[in-house]
Amino acid sequence: MTTHAISLIPGDGTGPEISATVQKVLEATGVKIAWDVVEAGADVVEKYGTPLPDNVLVSIRKNRVALKGPLTTPIGTGFRSVNVALRKELDLYACLRPCKSYLGVRSRYSNIDLVVVRENTEDLYAGVEYAPDSKEANEIIGWSKGKIVPHAAISIKPISRAGSERIMTYAFDYAVKNKRRKVTAVTKANIMKFTDGLFFDTAREVAKRYAGKVEYEERLIDNMCMQLVQKPELYDVIALPNLYGDILSDLCAGLIGGLGIAPGANIGQGISLFEPVHGSAPKYKGMNKVNPTAMLLSSVLMLEHIGEKTAASKLESAIAAVMAEGKNVTYDLKPRPDDPTAVGTREMGDAIIQKMRSL
Ligand code: NAD
Repeated sequence: MTTHAISLIPGDGTGPEISATVQKVLEATGVKIAWDVVEAGADVVEKYGTPLPDNVLVSIRKNRVALKGPLTTPIGTGFRSVNVALRKELDLYACLRPCKSYLGVRSRYSNIDLVVVRENTEDLYAGVEYAPDSKEANEIIGWSKGKIVPHAAISIKPISRAGSERIMTYAFDYAVKNKRRKVTAVTKANIMKFTDGLFFDTAREVAKRYAGKVEYEERLIDNMCMQLVQKPELYDVIALPNLYGDILSDLCAGLIGGLGIAPGANIGQGISLFEPVHGSAPKYKGMNKVNPTAMLLSSVLMLEHIGEKTAASKLESAIAAVMAEGKNVTYDLKPRPDDPTAVGTREMGDAIIQKMRSL
């Protein structure tokens, strides 16, 4: 049996307790994993002088696969976000966020099965920003010939053909591989004719290569938000530039019942990092309280990625069954958050292990 070398960043806040549970559950799948545990985040700044020590990147570059707990973004260290820095350093250009309804998870909707593919490196997240009255901002205000008022702060939105091409190719390849029927590209190209216009132009070109295999359509982001709330069943794989993708992923997480169960993957050229969508929920740190499901479902994506498809499907079925029963679940999956029958992170993990054994 193959042993998979995988980097693990336990994260901070509630990250370490969720990660410990996830390691235990993954061990019970029978898949052999040699964990390379590396630390990052706000809680290690004192120890390493940075929230993103070099050995983290070295480990992920070596192992090519990483699982990550949530990381708190410390304020005032020069890092906008460790998560954004990791995605940029490793060029993890595609952010994959499947949003699927599970029985037992309270939501206004049922039967949601959407996949958000978000571009991860360009757009307003590129970090090209100028403070009010800076030399650069004043220069740009000068070029704008009155379109930008004096003293404005400025953020630049770069979108390239190469960046759009690789994210759309990823979305279509994902659709083919996972037998999905349609890809919807989403922007605001009626207003941002050059940047979002280029994204759509490129998307159309990529779509031609998949004609007859996967349908293609376009929507504007404002309309898409309304459509997803009114008739989410019309959509399948949704591909977007960075900022729209960020916002729409949370909207889609809301459709399936919230952050506690929303998994994610960041994919680059031969390197992949799997992580829950939620943050480090620091107010619950050390309380054995939060839901491990989002990181467990991220691990399901990871197991599929490393070719352990049987284990992935068994784990997903066990998670689904435990949530459907609604007994051994954390507070967020109970009818009321103060429900005294809610179990902790560890106990929910143990229930999932028990369930895997009985499947
Ligand atoms: P958060 O996702 O940490 O928490 C918001 C609320 O959602 C929590 O208070 C809790 O009520 C609920 N929640 C989150 N995860 C849950 C879980 N697993 N089970 C049950 N309930 C859960 O968002 P925040 O408070 O805005 O951010 C806290 C920190 O996390 C910040 O520093 C932020 O930058 C960081 N963050 C990190 C990531 C990441 O690592 N990818 C993502 C988002 C936010």
